[in-house]
Amino acid sequence: MSASEPLAVRPAPARRLIGLFGGTFDPIHFGHLRAALDCVQGLDLAELRLLPLHIAPHRAQPIASGALRVAMIEAALNGVGSGLGSCDGAESPPPAGRIVIDPRELNRAGPSYTVETLEELRREIGTETPLGLLIGTDTFNGFMDWRRPRDILDLAHLVVMQRPGAPTVRDAVLRQEIQHRRIDDPAVLHRVAGGHICFQTVTQLDISATGIRRIIAIGQSPRYLLPDPVITLLARDGCYGRVIGVTPGARVGLPHPT
Ligand code: ATP
Repeated sequence: MSASEPLAVRPAPARRLIGLFGGTFDPIHFGHLRAALDCVQGLDLAELRLLPLHIAPHRAQPIASGALRVAMIEAALNGVGSGLGSCDGAESPPPAGRIVIDPRELNRAGPSYTVETLEELRREIGTETPLGLLIGTDTFNGFMDWRRPRDILDLAHLVVMQRPGAPTVRDAVLRQEIQHRRIDDPAVLHRVAGGHICFQTVTQLDISATGIRRIIAIGQSPRYLLPDPVITLLARDGCYGRVIGVTPGARVGLPHPT
């Protein structure tokens, strides 16, 4: 190429991978939100859907109602969007603006089996769009006990988020799956619909919903562990106990007070 020739503008590789982040979100906290944003940015996700579950197949049931958990997620995402991550008509939303809520599991009766959620999604979006199921290392360790784990891996990639204090993988079958399916280049996840396992480093925030519920139950403040608008909703509802420092009915911390 001569110096006078214009430089070829290479089109950016297509951003196709949709991330799915399921959980109880009882309540949603900065551990979830920061990990979600790390994955949006680290894997260049087209979108990341937060899926609050209805009935947990493998653990204790959530304390907050589905409606409250949805409201808390919406409040958390609106808080993020207030000037920092909202789409505001831009062609490509900034990373935090690509995090959305998908309440489909709450609308489905019975236990929220991930494989059924994925099958439902595949019926809607077809077989081509790559899907990445995000799970923390703690949850990943029990993955082979989930309903139809190999079908899950046929339907989507697994993105394993490093979580503080999580044990290393002991399950021999799971270790074998990792050996066969692991990829280290996230670009691969955008090219095929599913079937790979990838490890994503996320900011190590030792925050858990259990810890937050306990803090509230013993009368301490949960501030700085979760967004203020979420705390405001919790104070109004009182489902984990009285939240100190917030007057129920107050609009403290809401993103757009009127
Ligand atoms: P609980 O304490 O009630 O078990 P939790 O804080 O673990 O709740 P969940 O809604 O059950 O939150 O978790 C959903 C997903 O989010 C899981 O895959 C979990 O590993 C992941 N996750 C939760 N907290 C963090 C965190 N601090 N950092 C990274 N991942 C997290």
